[in-house]
Formats: sequence, structure tokens, C-alpha cells
Amino acid sequence: MISESKLEKLNKEIIACRKCPRLVEWREEVARVKRKAYMDQEYWGKPVPGFGDPQSRILVVGRAPGAHGSNRTGRNFTGDASGGFLYPALHRAGFANQALAESRSDGLILKDMYITASGRCAPPDNKPSPEELNNCQPYLEREIQIFKPQVIVCLGRIAFERILKIYSFRNSAWKFGHGALYQLDSGEWILCSYHPSQQNTLTGKLTVKMFDDIWKQANELLK
Ligand code: SF4
Repeated sequence: MISESKLEKLNKEIIACRKCPRLVEWREEVARVKRKAYMDQEYWGKPVPGFGDPQSRILVVGRAPGAHGSNRTGRNFTGDASGGFLYPALHRAGFANQALAESRSDGLILKDMYITASGRCAPPDNKPSPEELNNCQPYLEREIQIFKPQVIVCLGRIAFERILKIYSFRNSAWKFGHGALYQLDSGEWILCSYHPSQQNTLTGKLTVKMFDDIWKQANELLK
């Protein structure tokens, strides 16, 4: 049984974190200046905690919040094009009760899945520095300790490399690629997917079918 209180405590710590000066400045400035289309909204402007089912066996790891997506809404992959590709796929696969993800109060519920990130604060140009990712890594480690996931789905190379670092895994044969699947000695599966960014989805690098296959496989890997 997963302790919800441990998770709640962790999420409170994450939301209050100010370890990375560059990111604190950026996330707060974006929240203050805003994008024209969202002028009437109050931006979250803080680190974005994980989101999903506290009893999850699948942990999904992304990169970092988008400036006007989850840095605005306060929930991973919510309110941007990446989430507009991700959540419909999760809905089709049975992990989400709905395809819509536009705010923290939209009624979205995940089942057996928790979505988190390698970095919790929106970075300039969508690029967290290695030092910032190192600062943030202990939060991801604690989520792994809490959930003890059977399957970790890495959305993009940054997430995959972070997971390998956490497990101190140095097998040079393990490469990132869409659909790449590895199993740790301790039994956890690591499944890689291209990130559902517009850069990938609009160019056809990541198609709906390719993404659906990832979630089908994640489901089949559960014991
Ligand atoms: S990126 Fe992570 S470590 Fe850095 S300020 Fe945000 S929450 Fe803290």
C-alpha cells in the first residue's frame, strides 16, 4: 500500500523549492508577464508536482514544464500541445478517464499511472541545464521509492538518461529510441518513447499509432 501522506509531503516540498536561481527567476517572470492569450489567467509559476493515481504501477517521466503549459496550469502536460497529444492517447489506452486536460479542475483522473518530470520548473528555451536536473533528481528518486513502479515510461531522451543515472546504470548497450525496452536486474521495465512535443508530432516523427503502441505495451508489461 503506497503512503499518500509521503507523497503529499513530497509534493509540498517540491512546490516550495527554490534551489535553482535561474529557473526560479524564469518561471516567475513568465507567470508575471504571461502570454497574450492567457492574460486573464493566474499562472501557477511554481515547481510542478507529479500528478496521477497514488497507487500507480506505471511511472511516466517527462522532461520539464512548458512555460505557458504546466507552468501556467500547475499540472504536468496540461494546457499545451504535448498534453493535447498525450492525454487522448492515455484515454484511448484506459489510463485516463477523459482526453481533455486544460486545468487542475477539469476532472481528469488517471488510473494506475503517475506522471512526473526530470525537472519541475519551466526552463528558458525548454532546456534545463545538467546542474538543474541534478538539483531536481532527488525528487524523482523519492517518487521511485514511494511508488516502486513496475514500469517506467521515459518520454524523451532527457528522461531516459535521468532514469539511467538514478539507477547508476552504465550499460553502454542501452540506447534511447522509440519503443526501446529494457529490464533492470531488480525487475523494473524501462520503456522509451519519443516525447509528444509538437516538434515530434507535427513532423510525423511520433504518430498517433506509434504512441498508442507504447501505452498498449506499458499495460501488457504489468504483472
Ligand atoms: S528545477 Fe527542481 S530543484 Fe530546481 S528549483 Fe525547480 S523544483 Fe527546485
